[in-house]
Amino acid sequence: MLVILKSGASDDVVKQVAERIRDLGLQAHISQGEFRTIIGAIGEEKSIYPEQLRSIEGVENVVPIMRPYKLASRDFHPEDSVVTAGAISIGGGHAAIIAGPCAVEERDSCFEIAAAVKDGGANMLRGGAFKPRTSPYSFQGLGEEGLKILRECGDTYGLPVVTEVTDPRNVELVSRYADMLQVGARNMQNFVLLAEIGKVRKPVLLKRGASSSVADWLMSAEYILSEGNNQVVLCERGSRGFEPEVRFTLDVSAIALAKKNSHLPVIVDPSHAAGRRDMVAYLAMAGVAAGADGIIVEVHNCPEKAKCDGAQALTKDAFAALTKQVQKLFTLLGNQV
Ligand code: PEP
Ligand code: MN
Repeated sequence: MLVILKSGASDDVVKQVAERIRDLGLQAHISQGEFRTIIGAIGEEKSIYPEQLRSIEGVENVVPIMRPYKLASRDFHPEDSVVTAGAISIGGGHAAIIAGPCAVEERDSCFEIAAAVKDGGANMLRGGAFKPRTSPYSFQGLGEEGLKILRECGDTYGLPVVTEVTDPRNVELVSRYADMLQVGARNMQNFVLLAEIGKVRKPVLLKRGASSSVADWLMSAEYILSEGNNQVVLCERGSRGFEPEVRFTLDVSAIALAKKNSHLPVIVDPSHAAGRRDMVAYLAMAGVAAGADGIIVEVHNCPEKAKCDGAQALTKDAFAALTKQVQKLFTLLGNQV
């Protein structure tokens, strides 16, 4: 960590900062320039709270050298991580094609959708049983009943299943049925939930919050990793933008940046970004071109009757067509699908 002093800072300030650094068990390396002094704190950065040093009169700035998300960072883990969900691998050249309804609505439609996505080339099934809805009057999901249906569909069609957990009290329940736990965009910074999920041994799909930076996203991953669960996949699903004709703005830079700064696999969710089915395929391709290790898309047997996110749901045929395109691109980029 570098402590940069204000120009003309007195010798007393230099002494005070250096002493504070030594008191914290680190070495202080003083470099005195013509106009400014910089003090390097050498050792374990964790023991320093930059705000404390910053609040010393005469200190201009404190700059950490290492990224604050040590476990998620590529600095300490240069090779790509591979996450395993049921029988499939994600990352390191293995691509995930995850599809299914926004919410599990009832048994028959879920089976029909599962059959359609299997047929269309998906290697994993999605479906929400606990839905985080903006309105308390919207369909909230079937809860445990939905988990049972999703599990049955997954087993019938040989697809591992991913479903959202919204409440730390339900982590154990959802883990009993799911192959992978989803943390939704609205819960990306629900730190109690993240810590609870970090304690189970299930892979996690961590969506990026609609207005979170990539650094905040990776810090959220760090919460899970630091509890001992190293099976985290990141998912970009669009941020809040200013274009009214799309639901969110897909941030392809965030995919490339997350892949650069972290070893964790990253997948793209073009459905929630677009909010409309006519754009889903374009955004899926853009995400894969930016380096995504997979896609997650919403599919429905009868989108106009969907209880949730019908406008962005693909039909069976549109999904099969999208999968063909995406598989070509994955292969071109050297992935296995
Ligand atoms: C979902 O996957 O259905 C969902 C609610 O996604 P997000 O958290 O990205 O809005
Ligand atoms: Mn949805």
